[in-house]
Amino acid sequence: MEENIKIFGVKINKTTLDGAINKVKEFLKSNDNNPKAIYTPNTEIVMAAKDDNFLRKIINDGDLVIADGIGLIYASKIKKRPLPERVTGFDLSIEMLKLANKEKYNVFLLGGKEGVAKQAKENIIKEYPNVNIVGFHNGYFKGTHISQPGHNEEKKVIEEINKSGAHMLFVGLGAPKQEKWIHENKDKLNCKVIIGNGGTMDILAGMVKRAPDIYQKLGLEWFYRLIKDPKRIKRQMVLPLFMFKILFSSQDVIE
Ligand code: UDP
Repeated sequence: MEENIKIFGVKINKTTLDGAINKVKEFLKSNDNNPKAIYTPNTEIVMAAKDDNFLRKIINDGDLVIADGIGLIYASKIKKRPLPERVTGFDLSIEMLKLANKEKYNVFLLGGKEGVAKQAKENIIKEYPNVNIVGFHNGYFKGTHISQPGHNEEKKVIEEINKSGAHMLFVGLGAPKQEKWIHENKDKLNCKVIIGNGGTMDILAGMVKRAPDIYQKLGLEWFYRLIKDPKRIKRQMVLPLFMFKILFSSQDVIE
């Protein structure tokens, strides 16, 4: 079976949540010195990458790319190249924490406002006491994500991560900042797997609530977020445009 499809040229792995965590297990056991990068694009990011060659290249270079957006699933089904299910960055991150809890992997948390990663750490160890959170750092240092690659502050963060002995690195700098940061820096890092997981840290810290199950089951998480935070309307305007292009483009939008 083919491993991935491309939506507007952006690679998405055909995987379930179970399949994704199995891939992570493989990454952790691999002898490869380079960390494996996991990206979690939603529909907005695919739309951004469609028009941004560099972002598209970054995502296509990822070792595992999961579809964190219901629009991507609908599009894949409409075009008869179905993705099995939506796999969110949050859900995969939780599975990774459960795995770390079971197998005693070390985790480093990078991202969020000052204090958020620390709070996330405290909440994580309450729930998963065997997870070893070996370090954390806020996401407001100077570095690649804000167009200052190689800045001293970034170098220090990388050194901290490398010294911590982390196997898993969570990078929550928002998209596409985190993708750019991971792509630029992964070769300098000595962990095994890096996931760009957006606002996961905020949820783990209890700052932001996930949509109730019913919204998730109905594929309406975007709607819940919109009513909670109406400012998102501007970003979410790309969703109908995405569906329009999927339905009416004459070229092969999904390969
Ligand atoms: N963030 C960060 N550094 C930055 C920008 C954002 O750590 O330079 C964090 C922010 O605190 C939040 C997450 O990234 O935890 C997502 O940020 P935002 O809401 O801006 O991104 P989006 O929701 O658009 O992905």
